Amino acid sequence: MAIRNIRIFGDEVLNKECRPITEVTKKIKILVEDMLETMYDSNGVGLAAPQVGILKQLVVIDVSPECDDPIVLINPEIIETSGTQTGEEGCLSLPGKSGTVTRPNYVKVKAFDLDMNEIELEGEGLLARAFCHEIDHLHGHLYTEKVEGELHSTQQEG
Ligand code: ZN
Repeated sequence: MAIRNIRIFGDEVLNKECRPITEVTKKIKILVEDMLETMYDSNGVGLAAPQVGILKQLVVIDVSPECDDPIVLINPEIIETSGTQTGEEGCLSLPGKSGTVTRPNYVKVKAFDLDMNEIELEGEGLLARAFCHEIDHLHGHLYTEKVEGELHSTQQEG
Protein backbone atom coordinates (compact mmCIF):
# COMPACT_ATOMS: atom_id res chain seq x y z
CA MET A 1 0.00 0.00 0.00
CA ALA A 2 1.07 3.54 -0.60
CA ILE A 3 -0.16 7.03 0.11
CA ARG A 4 -1.02 8.82 -3.11
CA ASN A 5 -0.69 12.49 -3.88
CA ILE A 6 -4.05 14.26 -3.44
CA ARG A 7 -4.89 16.64 -6.27
CA ILE A 8 -5.73 20.14 -5.10
CA PHE A 9 -8.52 22.49 -6.23
CA GLY A 10 -7.53 24.08 -9.52
CA ASP A 11 -6.12 20.82 -10.94
CA GLU A 12 -8.19 20.20 -14.07
CA VAL A 13 -8.41 16.46 -13.38
CA LEU A 14 -10.99 17.37 -10.69
CA ASN A 15 -13.36 18.79 -13.32
CA LYS A 16 -13.44 15.77 -15.62
CA GLU A 17 -16.00 13.02 -16.10
CA CYS A 18 -14.77 9.60 -14.90
CA ARG A 19 -15.11 6.39 -16.87
CA PRO A 20 -16.99 3.35 -15.52
CA ILE A 21 -14.92 0.36 -14.40
CA THR A 22 -15.62 -2.80 -16.40
CA GLU A 23 -13.27 -5.20 -14.65
CA VAL A 24 -11.61 -5.24 -11.21
CA THR A 25 -8.00 -5.82 -12.16
CA LYS A 26 -5.04 -6.18 -9.78
CA LYS A 27 -4.28 -2.55 -10.55
CA ILE A 28 -7.78 -1.49 -9.39
CA LYS A 29 -7.38 -3.50 -6.17
CA ILE A 30 -4.08 -1.76 -5.44
CA LEU A 31 -5.70 1.60 -6.20
CA VAL A 32 -8.49 0.83 -3.67
CA GLU A 33 -5.94 -0.08 -0.96
CA ASP A 34 -3.95 3.07 -1.69
CA MET A 35 -7.05 5.28 -1.68
CA LEU A 36 -8.12 3.90 1.71
CA GLU A 37 -4.66 4.47 3.15
CA THR A 38 -4.55 7.99 1.69
CA MET A 39 -8.02 8.82 3.07
CA TYR A 40 -7.18 7.55 6.59
CA ASP A 41 -3.80 9.30 6.54
CA SER A 42 -5.55 12.60 5.76
CA ASN A 43 -8.35 12.04 8.32
CA GLY A 44 -10.93 12.22 5.54
CA VAL A 45 -14.31 10.46 5.45
CA GLY A 46 -14.21 9.88 1.71
CA LEU A 47 -11.99 9.97 -1.35
CA ALA A 48 -12.79 9.68 -5.05
CA ALA A 49 -10.37 8.30 -7.67
CA PRO A 50 -10.03 11.61 -9.58
CA GLN A 51 -8.65 13.14 -6.35
CA VAL A 52 -5.61 10.92 -6.84
CA GLY A 53 -5.55 11.62 -10.59
CA ILE A 54 -7.38 8.51 -11.81
CA LEU A 55 -10.44 9.16 -13.99
CA LYS A 56 -12.37 6.05 -12.99
CA GLN A 57 -15.71 5.70 -11.22
CA LEU A 58 -14.41 4.55 -7.86
CA VAL A 59 -14.88 5.99 -4.37
CA VAL A 60 -13.95 4.98 -0.84
CA ILE A 61 -15.84 6.20 2.22
CA ASP A 62 -15.55 5.58 5.96
CA VAL A 63 -17.71 7.65 8.31
CA SER A 64 -17.23 5.38 11.34
CA PRO A 65 -15.62 7.02 14.42
CA GLU A 66 -13.11 4.16 14.70
CA CYS A 67 -12.19 4.30 10.96
CA ASP A 68 -12.81 0.57 10.68
CA ASP A 69 -15.82 0.42 8.35
CA PRO A 70 -14.57 1.12 4.83
CA ILE A 71 -17.07 1.28 1.96
CA VAL A 72 -15.82 0.78 -1.60
CA LEU A 73 -18.14 1.79 -4.43
CA ILE A 74 -17.53 1.04 -8.10
CA ASN A 75 -19.65 2.88 -10.70
CA PRO A 76 -21.97 4.28 -8.00
CA GLU A 77 -25.28 5.95 -8.84
CA ILE A 78 -27.77 7.67 -6.57
CA ILE A 79 -31.14 5.99 -7.08
CA GLU A 80 -33.21 7.54 -4.29
CA THR A 81 -33.04 10.57 -2.00
CA SER A 82 -35.27 12.15 0.61
CA GLY A 83 -35.24 15.00 3.08
CA THR A 84 -32.58 17.67 3.39
CA GLN A 85 -29.70 18.47 5.71
CA THR A 86 -27.70 21.69 5.84
CA GLY A 87 -24.26 21.55 7.36
CA GLU A 88 -20.53 22.01 7.07
CA GLU A 89 -18.73 20.17 4.31
CA GLY A 90 -15.07 19.94 3.43
CA CYS A 91 -12.92 18.19 0.85
CA LEU A 92 -9.39 16.76 0.92
CA SER A 93 -8.78 18.66 -2.34
CA LEU A 94 -9.41 21.95 -0.50
CA PRO A 95 -7.41 21.42 2.67
CA GLY A 96 -8.28 23.63 5.63
CA LYS A 97 -11.53 24.93 4.07
CA SER A 98 -15.18 24.20 4.62
CA GLY A 99 -18.53 25.63 3.67
CA THR A 100 -22.25 25.20 4.23
CA VAL A 101 -23.90 22.78 1.81
CA THR A 102 -27.46 21.45 1.68
CA ARG A 103 -27.75 17.77 0.74
CA PRO A 104 -30.46 15.10 0.96
CA ASN A 105 -30.65 13.58 4.44
CA TYR A 106 -31.25 10.09 3.05
CA VAL A 107 -29.57 8.61 -0.01
CA LYS A 108 -29.80 5.17 -1.59
CA VAL A 109 -26.93 4.18 -3.86
CA LYS A 110 -26.56 1.43 -6.42
CA ALA A 111 -22.99 0.34 -7.15
CA PHE A 112 -20.71 -2.65 -7.66
CA ASP A 113 -18.41 -4.19 -5.07
CA LEU A 114 -14.88 -5.50 -5.65
CA ASP A 115 -16.31 -8.77 -7.00
CA MET A 116 -18.43 -6.74 -9.47
CA ASN A 117 -21.61 -7.82 -7.68
CA GLU A 118 -24.34 -5.21 -7.76
CA ILE A 119 -25.03 -3.77 -4.32
CA GLU A 120 -27.42 -1.22 -2.84
CA LEU A 121 -26.52 0.85 0.19
CA GLU A 122 -28.52 3.35 2.19
CA GLY A 123 -27.14 6.23 4.19
CA GLU A 124 -28.46 8.99 6.42
CA GLY A 125 -26.81 12.13 7.74
CA LEU A 126 -23.03 12.14 7.28
CA LEU A 127 -23.04 8.96 5.15
CA ALA A 128 -25.71 10.41 2.83
CA ARG A 129 -23.61 13.58 2.54
CA ALA A 130 -20.48 11.53 1.77
CA PHE A 131 -22.29 9.54 -0.95
CA CYS A 132 -23.39 12.79 -2.66
CA HIS A 133 -20.02 14.52 -2.28
CA GLU A 134 -17.93 11.60 -3.57
CA ILE A 135 -20.27 10.71 -6.46
CA ASP A 136 -20.20 14.40 -7.52
CA HIS A 137 -16.40 14.06 -7.83
CA LEU A 138 -16.87 11.27 -10.42
CA HIS A 139 -18.72 13.74 -12.64
CA GLY A 140 -16.25 16.59 -12.22
CA HIS A 141 -18.21 18.48 -9.57
CA LEU A 142 -16.92 19.95 -6.32
CA TYR A 143 -18.90 21.09 -3.28
CA THR A 144 -17.73 24.65 -3.92
CA GLU A 145 -20.40 24.80 -6.68
CA LYS A 146 -23.11 24.21 -4.05
CA VAL A 147 -21.71 26.15 -1.11
CA GLU A 148 -24.01 28.68 0.54
CA GLY A 149 -22.15 31.85 1.45
CA GLU A 150 -18.36 31.92 1.81
CA LEU A 151 -15.84 29.15 2.29
CA HIS A 152 -14.14 29.41 5.66
CA SER A 153 -11.01 28.08 7.31
CA THR A 154 -11.36 24.96 9.42
CA GLN A 155 -9.57 21.91 10.73
CA GLN A 156 -12.33 19.57 9.58
CA GLU A 157 -11.85 17.89 6.22
CA GLY A 158 -13.84 15.36 4.26
ZN1 ZN B 1 -14.07 15.95 -2.00
